[in-house]
Amino acid sequence: MTITENIDKILGKIPSDVRLVAVTKKKSVTAIKEAYNYGIRDFAESRVQEALSKQEQLQDYQDICWHFIGHIQTNKAKQVLKHFHWIHSVDSLKLAEYLDKLAAKNSIFPHVCLQVKILPDPNKYGWKIDELWQDLSELESLKYIKIDGLMTILPLGLSQDECLDTFEKTQKLAIKITEKSSLQLKELSMGMSNDYLLAVEKGATMIRLGTIIFGERD
Ligand SMILES: *Cc1c(COP(=O)(O)O)cnc(C)c1O
Repeated sequence: MTITENIDKILGKIPSDVRLVAVTKKKSVTAIKEAYNYGIRDFAESRVQEALSKQEQLQDYQDICWHFIGHIQTNKAKQVLKHFHWIHSVDSLKLAEYLDKLAAKNSIFPHVCLQVKILPDPNKYGWKIDELWQDLSELESLKYIKIDGLMTILPLGLSQDECLDTFEKTQKLAIKITEKSSLQLKELSMGMSNDYLLAVEKGATMIRLGTIIFGERD
């Protein structure tokens, strides 16, 4: 199967208002161009250095919307803000505040999602549910970053029912926060190659797909 055929098949299975974000970490610029030529405009990377090098080679592709999905170290925050339209992986209050400060300095209003950990997972960054409620009033006071939604990554090895349950909890959390605060969490960035159909069932607005489009990463 080619990249084009893979995308075609995926698009046939999801509603047209779900945004397919193609995850191109460890994949070539040639692969990105193939997806672009099909019509994909949303691309995601998780490492700054790798992303910047690809963006430089894709300067003529001005209408690409770049998404950052990796953990952000403080010393990389400036570059991420400068080179990405969306940041899915804002995973602590400290990072959110720092991004907001940088955004203020540059008068930009980047779109971000807050990364949440619905189930305990020592290998992942992000807010636990109760921690997010605790930080909410501080997050509400940030004026430059536009907190548009929640992002989650499921732990490995869940059953289908557990996946559905966890996506549903993420969806419900976003709804509840939107009701009880000034944040409008309308985006749900959830679902990867193995579980995107389940995520879509529970209201995902952005799915982040790598392997299923481009094949296994080395
Ligand atoms: C790599 C990655 C993906 C894509 O994963 P696949 O299983 O290859 O679809 C999605 N989201 C994040 C945060 C990633 O790091």
